[in-house]
Amino acid sequence: MDIRVDPEKCTGCQLCVKACPYAAVEMQGDIATITAACTLCGACVSVCPVGAIIREMPDVAEIDTSNYQGVWVIAELDEDRLAGVTLELLGKGRELADALETPLSLVVLGNGVGELVTPAGEYGADRVYLVGDPVLEQYRTGPYTDVIAGLINKYQPEIVLIGATEQGRDLAPRLAVRLETGLTADCTGLDIDSEARLLVQTRPAFGGSIMARIITRNHRPQMATVRPRVMRRAEPQPGREAGLVEIPVKLNEESVLTRIVEIARDQSSQAVNLQDADIIVSGGRGLKKPENFALVQELAEVLGGVVGASRPTVDEGWIPAYHQVGQTGRTVQPKLYIACGISGAVQHLAGMAGADCIVAINSDPNAPIFGVAHYAVVGDLFEIVPALTEIAREELEGD
Ligand code: FAD
Ligand code: SF4
Ligand code: SF4
Repeated sequence: MDIRVDPEKCTGCQLCVKACPYAAVEMQGDIATITAACTLCGACVSVCPVGAIIREMPDVAEIDTSNYQGVWVIAELDEDRLAGVTLELLGKGRELADALETPLSLVVLGNGVGELVTPAGEYGADRVYLVGDPVLEQYRTGPYTDVIAGLINKYQPEIVLIGATEQGRDLAPRLAVRLETGLTADCTGLDIDSEARLLVQTRPAFGGSIMARIITRNHRPQMATVRPRVMRRAEPQPGREAGLVEIPVKLNEESVLTRIVEIARDQSSQAVNLQDADIIVSGGRGLKKPENFALVQELAEVLGGVVGASRPTVDEGWIPAYHQVGQTGRTVQPKLYIACGISGAVQHLAGMAGADCIVAINSDPNAPIFGVAHYAVVGDLFEIVPALTEIAREELEGD
């Protein structure tokens, strides 16, 4: 990979100097020159108004995959903590790194986030690449892509894992394009083919009718996103420490195209936090009409849980979309999942099969949901759900 300035085209505007996060562009007279500090992040290429910066990527045949070592997780922050999905990816990343006998690293971008090195180590990271700068305080596509692409080019990890969250779904494809490598989105399984030293990325395909196993054979890094609650987080090991690599950057707010004016959380979707719920009572088309979600709601309330839903009930407008569980909804991992009038299509199972205990209530003894249920209740939900609510109320509220 190479980057250079065409002196015939350069007008000396210095936009590339301001845009370079690694302070790797210098002016020699009126002509920009790229120094040895360049990480090949690509940030300067898109800002040059006259196309004077040329970035040449290697031909596939020239990529020596053996030069790439290590498993990386790109951290996402929830306020000032590591987000749940990051801890889950550290758990899976640890397994992959052990299988490859290579280090596991966490990449943390932010402002004043040095204290996150401790939990990173306790949750399995061997090393933390820490990039602190006021410009990185909140996630923004441009600077995050530039900085992380530069780090990946410089340190050459063989695997990069990112959460399939709103942030990760924005970042991962941009990184993959910038790095000219493959990306498998929304993986439900990640394993190592130790003979070929390849990441085997499993995800549903063709509407969930098959599970595809995808490999990135010739490009590096191998990149995958995973939705929250798909992987299990490892038990923290208090006192376990990660090494720290602090990365100096020089970021210019004026080179960033977006400004965060206000962060307004959608209160309604926050009120139903399916992903963190311990108890979910879900309703399906077996409820027959929207008003009958009241039965599900009542049971959920008595148990201290939240309401989930199958997709057709959302499509029909019976309940808002943020209740939907499944392949195109949320992936959940509660301690208890009660499915009321849900058949158990593969796309629904994709979102809830990881629950610790599944209770299914369905009038059809052959409903596929019984294939994953720990407790199968065959019968009419309109009799069983109110009866369950009554028993739970008596047991839990004592009246
Ligand atoms: P049905 O399949 O109609 O099942 C209703 C069930 O209720 C039946 O099993 C029936 O026996 C039972 N029943 C009826 N009356 C009673 C009664 N009185 N008492 C007890 N039981 C009763 N679906 C999702 O849920 N989430 C997704 O994210 C999702 N993503 C999808 C993505 C794609 C690309 C596609 C193609 C489909 C997706 N689907 C998803 C839809 C999925 O294929 C199923 O159509 C859907 O899950 C079925 O919903 P259901 O179980 O509520 O309805
Ligand atoms: Fe351009 Fe990035 Fe190299 Fe700076 S580090 S010169 S922005 S490719
Ligand atoms: Fe030259 Fe382009 Fe850099 Fe401007 S942005 S100094 S034209 S290379």
